[in-house]
Amino acid sequence: AADIALYRAKNDGRDRAYTFDHGLAAEVAQRRARETDVRQGIAHGWFELFIQPIVRLADGRIVGGEALVRLRHPEKGLISPGEFIPAAEETGLIRPLGRLILSEAVRKIPALAAANGGSFYLSVNLSGSQVTDTLPEYLEQLLTENGVPASQLVLEIMETALLDDAEKVNRILSRVSALGIRFALDDFGTGFSSLNYVNRFPVDIIKIDRSFTRRLTEDSHEAARVRALVTTSVTLGRELGLGLVAEGIEQAAEFDRSVELGMEYGQGYLFSPPLPHDAFLELARANAGARTEAPPAARAMS
Ligand code: C2E
Ligand code: MG
Ligand code: MG
Ligand code: MG
Repeated sequence: AADIALYRAKNDGRDRAYTFDHGLAAEVAQRRARETDVRQGIAHGWFELFIQPIVRLADGRIVGGEALVRLRHPEKGLISPGEFIPAAEETGLIRPLGRLILSEAVRKIPALAAANGGSFYLSVNLSGSQVTDTLPEYLEQLLTENGVPASQLVLEIMETALLDDAEKVNRILSRVSALGIRFALDDFGTGFSSLNYVNRFPVDIIKIDRSFTRRLTEDSHEAARVRALVTTSVTLGRELGLGLVAEGIEQAAEFDRSVELGMEYGQGYLFSPPLPHDAFLELARANAGARTEAPPAARAMS
């Protein structure tokens, strides 16, 4: 076809044929642009951490928050992580960016905890390539410098981050875990052997992926299987003393079903979208101060 060009490139001394269509070429150009954005963002301090509350379903109290990075580009506006984290990972820029995110996140914790009435944890996403031998010391130093107790920091990892060199990863994560920092297994259930990872790595919290939350309220054969998976995860969590967070709760019905299935914590647009730092502080203060007014989650009690 006219829109397909055959392209030969030298690779490891061997000729390889690549087929490019316009879609793929555009994607490559987009990746390049994102790489440039990340480089410039690091140099100019364009990254911002938004924070989304994590709520105890029984009473609607905020127990923590997830730090979600955005790139505030002066011309392009706010760019979401789904668009630039993959580019950062491919180019290795995720290492400097990851350190930037970690240091900024830990620096924020004291104010966040104070606004929330003292008890609070901040959950920070960690890419697989950030799991290096220097990570434990780096984290220890960050906590010390900022006077932050390790119990107020959680690191979210995806199964894919645990795939390569599992032994080495496990050794590093165990050292981090020994500091008192907790780990959450992100997007739980989307990988092919999620249950296995809970056994092999120092996992403290399971975050049930939002694709499951979404299906909890469906009335289909598939939905029944999803409910079975969630029920199994709840049982597993109880047995192992793990925290369980339902991701992506948007609808009241999803909330109700999560509670019915025994989920203890939740996160999602029903409670709040990710918020800029100051807006989160305001929400946390109001939430910690609210004694009489029923938050959305309080319906579970009545
Ligand atoms: P994640 O860690 O699974 O984060 C949850 C994502 O779900 C966030 O998207 C959040 O805004 C979105 N979300 C929360 N509640 C709802 C809901 O009720 N409905 C829907 N539809 N979505 C909801 P976001 O902020 O765009 O982040 C996307 C992904 O980018 C994250 O998925 C995480 O894997 C990655 N990411 C974000 N921040 C960082 C970071 O600082 N470092 C690294 N390495 N990755 C990050
Ligand atoms: Mg996450
Ligand atoms: Mg997630
Ligand atoms: Mg996700």
